[in-house]
Amino acid sequence: MAVATDALSWTERTFATVPGVGPDAAALLGDAHFIDLHLDLHVPVRLFGYDPARAHRPWCRPIPFFGHTDLPRVRQSGFTGVVYDVATNPFRPESSRLEATHRNLRDVVALAESHPDHLAIATTAAAYDRAVAAGKLAMMPSLQGGNAVAASVDALDGPLGDLVTRITVVHLTTSVFGGTSSPLGADTGLTARGAELVQRMVQRRILVDLAHAGKKTFWGLIEQVPAGTPPIVSHTGVAGVHPHWRNVDDAQIRAIADRGGVVGVMYQSSFLEPVLLWGRRARILDHLQHIIDVAGEDVPAIGTDYDGMIVPPGDLADVTHHGLLVQDMLDRGWSEARIRKILGLNYLRVFREVRP
Ligand SMILES: [Zn+2]
Repeated sequence: MAVATDALSWTERTFATVPGVGPDAAALLGDAHFIDLHLDLHVPVRLFGYDPARAHRPWCRPIPFFGHTDLPRVRQSGFTGVVYDVATNPFRPESSRLEATHRNLRDVVALAESHPDHLAIATTAAAYDRAVAAGKLAMMPSLQGGNAVAASVDALDGPLGDLVTRITVVHLTTSVFGGTSSPLGADTGLTARGAELVQRMVQRRILVDLAHAGKKTFWGLIEQVPAGTPPIVSHTGVAGVHPHWRNVDDAQIRAIADRGGVVGVMYQSSFLEPVLLWGRRARILDHLQHIIDVAGEDVPAIGTDYDGMIVPPGDLADVTHHGLLVQDMLDRGWSEARIRKILGLNYLRVFREVRP
């Protein structure tokens, strides 16, 4: 289902031509820093060889689970940067997990290097700035599931620690590091090994991501993060709008805010509202608004979780339709300054502080 040619699709910016996107929204998105705090495109690439460098034609609604993005469409959407995630398979034996992580990260670097005119790996804010100035999409590698390195925290001292900008300490299962919020695991709290991992991450200036952490583990992680390294929740909903095991409560939002961090709102419909399949994009704004109400407008961000087995809102039919989300923000009377913070400046503030 590829459209046009690679060359054309990489350079087009189609968000401005989506019906319903006014000139103000298009202009704002056209020159804003727009960063996705959590893109899981590498999951379908790894699972069934999905081509991330080829533009795929959008459907009338986002397909459940995968096919939400590819890098040309992400560029067309106005994104300037993505936190490009490599997720861990917790069922892989610990002995081969680190090797798989290295292989996946090599693939991500090779992907960027094979499209040097359009993509750039950005492990620092300076590299992000260079990529954006050159008109490229900045890819900031990250790991979801600290157990990617479970066999050896020392791996962070090597090239892996140079490349990875962020680690989500726990994922959907409880690991040697701590407990998940998911019903698939028990919230056992942060373990001594988990504390050791965080200390090592802080030394290597790797962002500490508390998404997926069970409450006990979350508070254990907060205790481990010293001043000067703001913790983040990269992709989540908020319980104040929709109570759910996957969502963070107001005290958790305040804890992140008090330490200068950010909270990214994700697009899984059932975390945003009680639906089985597609919800509404208005709920993304409701969750962002709640974060603002609880902690101010320096905290919210966008962490889509696209291609991470989610069902995005049905009226955000394609990643290239993000102009509609910006239009919604303007229609709610949100200031341009607030919108720019949510789209990218809040995350950039943290990224610049931790990884200048
Ligand atoms: Zn996740």
